[in-house]
Amino acid sequence: MLIAGNWKMNLKYDDILKFRDIVNDFKIDNRVEMAIFPQFPLLYYAKEYLSNCNIEIGAQTCSSELNGAYTGDVSVEIISDIGCKYCIIGHSERREFHNETNSFIKKASTLVLSKNIIPIICVGESEEIKNKKDTNQFIRNQIRKCVPDNINSDLVIAYEPLWAIGTGIIPSYEEIFNVHTNIIDELSYIENLKVIYGGSVNSENCAKIFELNTVHGALIGGSSLKFKDFLAIYKSAVKQL
Ligand code: PEP
Repeated sequence: MLIAGNWKMNLKYDDILKFRDIVNDFKIDNRVEMAIFPQFPLLYYAKEYLSNCNIEIGAQTCSSELNGAYTGDVSVEIISDIGCKYCIIGHSERREFHNETNSFIKKASTLVLSKNIIPIICVGESEEIKNKKDTNQFIRNQIRKCVPDNINSDLVIAYEPLWAIGTGIIPSYEEIFNVHTNIIDELSYIENLKVIYGGSVNSENCAKIFELNTVHGALIGGSSLKFKDFLAIYKSAVKQL
């Protein structure tokens, strides 16, 4: 399982140190990975301070180009040099505010894989699509457009319904189970595939989500900023094994 904390544009250098102090005394179970995704300038420190605690580090996005005149973008080579294990690609906020399209996501994921970093590709339907009962078809289509060609192992898909992100509302457990089953079915040729759920996961609803055997972890935004809650979610995942 993978418990991933997407810090987004929150928390500072001092928070990396606070997090380290807390996780120093925390037992990481080797069957459940913990990863955090701080802002780019903090990645180096996060790697430096947290790798002894068995916590993986990841980037929140990356360029779809290897290098060159792309002011403000961050290359996969730097992310790789820092020692990130994961890179989130196509988070709905990146799709909405930075025009990350399905074809960008496929190109960036292909680059990321070429540096032996595991992409966490985000997919998820809008409320409108959910109401039209088109979720499964929409997600299959996103996956077909975003997943790199010729990939046969090591991929994470984060199923994040747009209407569940940061709203406190989650789909029914049955809906989560069904969408995850659909994704696993679509990508059955990929070894070591993880399908994780994201969208308003908290320390109260997580146990029931982790009970679903098609859920291989969670991508957590708001609750990852409250370290106590994030660790409680992690413990709940361990308990589920
Ligand atoms: C996210 O943005 O990836 C996310 C899941 O956020 P939240 O947990 O706050 O809904």
